[in-house]
Amino acid sequence: MDINSKFSILTPSNIVVGNNSVEKIGEEATKLGANKVLIITDIGIIKSGIVNKVKELLEQKNIDVGIFDEVKPEPHTDVVYNCMSKVEKENYNLLIGLGGGSVIDVTKAVSILITNKGNLNDYYGFNKVKKPGLKKIQIPTTAGTGSEVTYVSVLIDENEEKVVIYSPYLFSDLAIIDPLLTLSMPPKITAYTGMDALAHAIESYTSVDANIFTDALSLKAISLIGRSLRKAVFQGDKNIESRYNMSIASLFAGISFINAGCNAVHALALALGGKYHLPHGLSNALMIPYVIDFNLPGSFEKFANIAKALGEQVEGLSIIESARKTVNAIKMLSEDIGIPQRLRDINIKKEDILDLAKTAIKANRLLVHNPRLISLDDIVKIYKTAW
Ligand code: NAD
Repeated sequence: MDINSKFSILTPSNIVVGNNSVEKIGEEATKLGANKVLIITDIGIIKSGIVNKVKELLEQKNIDVGIFDEVKPEPHTDVVYNCMSKVEKENYNLLIGLGGGSVIDVTKAVSILITNKGNLNDYYGFNKVKKPGLKKIQIPTTAGTGSEVTYVSVLIDENEEKVVIYSPYLFSDLAIIDPLLTLSMPPKITAYTGMDALAHAIESYTSVDANIFTDALSLKAISLIGRSLRKAVFQGDKNIESRYNMSIASLFAGISFINAGCNAVHALALALGGKYHLPHGLSNALMIPYVIDFNLPGSFEKFANIAKALGEQVEGLSIIESARKTVNAIKMLSEDIGIPQRLRDINIKKEDILDLAKTAIKANRLLVHNPRLISLDDIVKIYKTAW
């Protein structure tokens, strides 16, 4: 252990975890002083019956409940403004984000815009938000983004570009992680979101800014995903243990990546997902093996640990041989859960690669954490290999 290691860790102030923990929502909302609550969600979550359940739990504590269900996957900024007008008109004193990362990110943005006023583009980038937002509880129904414990909100602006707000005021006042809420996730969304969590875990573990705290979370997340993602995808609501493990993996990887940083997988995936409007988890899944193959020499030891955490047989192998097993382990996992393996499989145009690389290289906030220095040429080569 490096006894000179110094680090600080940012997390939300309160995280409640466990099967059926959502039952505490009424009590927790009351503790936060709420008597009029807006549940922010989307149509998929309404259909799953989860919203009704949470609404009833709140009403049992005499809390007035409104519902805003217009969030769409990979949300645009206009949905934030629509939701904001409802909050202003109807005077809510607590927001509850109930859904996947899309819903949670919208809830964060509404919360800070209500109190800080102005336009969203006043707040893109780091620490531009001046004061705390309206109180918010975040309850994930997917297991992947970790957004319920991050201080990040990702939106798509009017130019169809991904924009990001980073501010400690985006942290939830309470995150409730109830794995049973993920049981209704269809296989494809389970697969995409699970690969998002894997990307967070691997990138934070191999980040040049990782520390002993983030390492512990990331490595545990990787091993949970290695043994649970296939079952979560293929056994749906029949395997509660695998859903529990995936929720914990997503939570651990979320805390880890906001403290250690994501790196080139996310830089290349965001460029791809932004241009082609792909689900975030799918873009990450497409890039992970190819970026890792490039990154291996930057951190053979850590990639060797990842191979072991993913269940690869590494006894008797050298560190370099073990590390190389990571790439294949991830390809097999991704293929097993039905994720396309090549950019061409989802109709990405080869002639777009240079443009994609030019967008990806601009994500310096991510690339500074990469375990291997990376140039525009390197990024072009990685996209070409992935194509
Ligand atoms: P999502 O929120 O976009 O949801 C995808 C679909 O899954 C929706 O149609 C939704 O209705 C459905 N769904 C979700 N939970 C369900 C359930 N339990 N049962 C049935 N259907 C369900 O998916 P996501 O991958 O969780 O979020 C992606 C978004 O999160 C992207 O916009 C991405 O940029 C963002 N993100 C944010 C952070 C962060 O830290 N802020 C991190 C990673 C990703």
